[in-house]
Amino acid sequence: MSIMKIVLATHNPHKLKELLDILPRKCTSGAIEYVCLADLPAFQLPEETGSTLEENAALKATAAAKAFGLPALADDTGLEVEALNGAPGVRTARYGGEHADADDNNRKLLGALEGKLLPERAASFRTIACLATPQGNTYLFEGSINGHIGFGYRGENGFGYDPIFIVDQCQKTMAELTENQKNKISHRARAFEKAADFLETFVE
Ligand code: IMP
Repeated sequence: MSIMKIVLATHNPHKLKELLDILPRKCTSGAIEYVCLADLPAFQLPEETGSTLEENAALKATAAAKAFGLPALADDTGLEVEALNGAPGVRTARYGGEHADADDNNRKLLGALEGKLLPERAASFRTIACLATPQGNTYLFEGSINGHIGFGYRGENGFGYDPIFIVDQCQKTMAELTENQKNKISHRARAFEKAADFLETFVE
């Protein structure tokens, strides 16, 4: 049986850890090997210049697939808050400023929702996963999860907006879930499980 190598095109260690948990669980054929950027020659992902999550995911996956001559997977994730008309959306990473860290982003979002009661704080995380081939074909997969933005930080796990995002189905913040619990229900799990199912048919 030949093994197909797929590049995981992310420099984010949190995302990478989640992907290495989510994807192999779905690899029933054993015909896929996931390769991290750290195990490949140095490579810079392109800037996220797209105007949608789909464009940004495709930009990253396509650049990696071309650079390494291997199929590559990348994602772009947005937090969409109803009361803010879907913002921060595609600007989720830079919501608190061009070089914002997670704390800057979370504080800005809590500030933007000040005075709003829980029902007005509905939000969803949306991930677009893109599989790109070295020939330039792209395949997109979407996953989302509904929740509410809390009134402060809760929980120590996860990353980014996890401590302020209360998951509707369990009333815990993402940061209060264990890695295993998050990776069963998250936006990223839902998108990449679809990608992994597709990949199983792709390698056949
Ligand atoms: P990107 O997909 O790497 O561009 O991430 C966009 C922004 O969303 C960054 O600020 C991330 O920290 C944040 N983010 C991405 N995925 C998650 C997640 O699973 N939980 C919480 N925040 C996330």
